[in-house]
Amino acid sequence: LFAAECRFFYAAQRLDQLPEPDRPEIAFAGRSNVGKSTLINALTGHKALARASSQPGRTKQLNFFDLGQRLTLVDMPGYGYAEAAKAVKEDWQGLMFDFLRGRPTLRRVLLLLDSRIEIKANDLEAMKLLDRAAVSFQLVLTKSDAPKPPVLAAKRVAVEALARKHAAAHPEVILTSSETGLGITELRATLAELALP
Ligand code: GDP
Repeated sequence: LFAAECRFFYAAQRLDQLPEPDRPEIAFAGRSNVGKSTLINALTGHKALARASSQPGRTKQLNFFDLGQRLTLVDMPGYGYAEAAKAVKEDWQGLMFDFLRGRPTLRRVLLLLDSRIEIKANDLEAMKLLDRAAVSFQLVLTKSDAPKPPVLAAKRVAVEALARKHAAAHPEVILTSSETGLGITELRATLAELALP
């Protein structure tokens, strides 16, 4: 699957602009700065496919990437900028919820959590929202190279407990690092299982 060229093919700012739901989709979500762009680039072997660190206040949109016409990766806008206006936050939640609930081809959401920082209220809100939308999701710890091993181990236990608390969560948590390559092969295998043959 990942031998195929991954290409950007669509951006949507509104739900009436979505591309045809004609193949399985995996969405990437998480707080701004969680390492989402870096992870998408590491997975697809691109240097700058997903633009790193989009600015706060910039137009929020869903970016769609095609992987060999077998799978679509959906880059969701990062949430959690403290300075984002309330209206922007509500827009984001509305778009995310409606997209998640109404998208028949969405197979799984990878919800990224930064292993260096505490899980925040808006991460928990995102999990609740996914549960409510009954969208299957999987928790992925990013930047796993950064914490000391015992800290990372404790984090993993805590995140696995969170996964058990959410009906829509996949029980397995994936640890990744775009620096060392940890978890990249595993995540690629997960995506390949969800792709068209
Ligand atoms: P995004 O806003 O979620 O797209 O986050 P970015 O991909 O732009 O990454 C945010 C910051 O985290 C950047 O400074 C990256 O260099 C850093 N970063 C991303 N992935 C890793 C990682 O695996 N390990 C470490 N140590 N830093 C990372």
